[in-house]
Amino acid sequence: MINHTAVTVLGLGDMGSAIGHALLGHGLTTTVWNRTRDKAEPLIAAGALLAPSPAAAVAASPVTVICVSDYAATQEILGTPAAADAIRDRVLVQLTTGTPQDARQASDWAMSNGARYVDGGILAWPRQMGGDSATVVVSGRGEDLAEARPILAAAAGNVLHIGEPIAGASALFAAILAYLAGRWIGFSHGALICETEGLDVVGFGTLLADMAPVLAQDDRHMGEVVGHDRYDAPESALRTAGTDIAKLVRHAEQTGISGDFPRFAADLFGRAIEAGHGAEEHVALLKVLRCAQPIAS
Ligand code: NAP
Repeated sequence: MINHTAVTVLGLGDMGSAIGHALLGHGLTTTVWNRTRDKAEPLIAAGALLAPSPAAAVAASPVTVICVSDYAATQEILGTPAAADAIRDRVLVQLTTGTPQDARQASDWAMSNGARYVDGGILAWPRQMGGDSATVVVSGRGEDLAEARPILAAAAGNVLHIGEPIAGASALFAAILAYLAGRWIGFSHGALICETEGLDVVGFGTLLADMAPVLAQDDRHMGEVVGHDRYDAPESALRTAGTDIAKLVRHAEQTGISGDFPRFAADLFGRAIEAGHGAEEHVALLKVLRCAQPIAS
């Protein structure tokens, strides 16, 4: 009989604590452990049970959720004989950010110790956990996820199962993180331009938010262009964007703000143009990113 009302959380940093509070908020009996004990206090005050060791924490529940800085920390926490023994016949849900290779190795380790394993990535801020706006992408066997799903659903309203191959969720997470990294850097540079030229940065953010539906169409379009290999006949060519982006380098030089991001972007577009992709869709940049040396297709 599966006990969906008990769960263990290992790791009580910003995200692990948010997960713990979300699980308690959904009425689950929640056992917690953290290397630095003090961080458990708010959860204990909210009704969580503190375990004296990772092994005791794992033994307390059929499902353990771990959310720490990296997979090396997971290995440190669970790598003792006592913890490895406690994990047998239980489900381990890894919500630590890692690489696909990390996920495969953690899965191998869990299975070699008789555990079932679900790997996931959290697409949310800590304050969103427990609500419908929080998404967790997970991969692993359907039967293992079935056992963990009620717990994951309490932690995040939207649980997206990518499929059985264990590295799928971390691969998707990495792809999304790459996208976000570009967005964060782009916003920061754009905000600097606003600051330098006396424009309101709050208004800049609001304008971008208002443009979100249009930007979303561009994302969908880029996916279709790459997925169906349809780079020709763009509405706006890569060369046009590349020429405009080169002007950002000039603007940085004129104003004294950092030219790091514009130079990087202009170099990439320049390489794509040189490689013969100037008349194609912007996302043809991917063709020069695929290989160390730019080549024309
Ligand atoms: P955090 O606040 O820095 O907490 C890190 C946690 O890892 C702490 O519990 C820390 O324990 C533990 N830890 C680190 N090294 C350890 C070791 N060697 N042994 C034992 N415990 C160790 O980070 P976080 O924000 O909670 O993030 C945790 C994971 O969630 C990361 O993989 C992150 O990418 C992911 N995530 C976070 C967010 C976010 O907005 N915060 C969003 C999406 C995904 P101590 O307290 O003892 O230091």
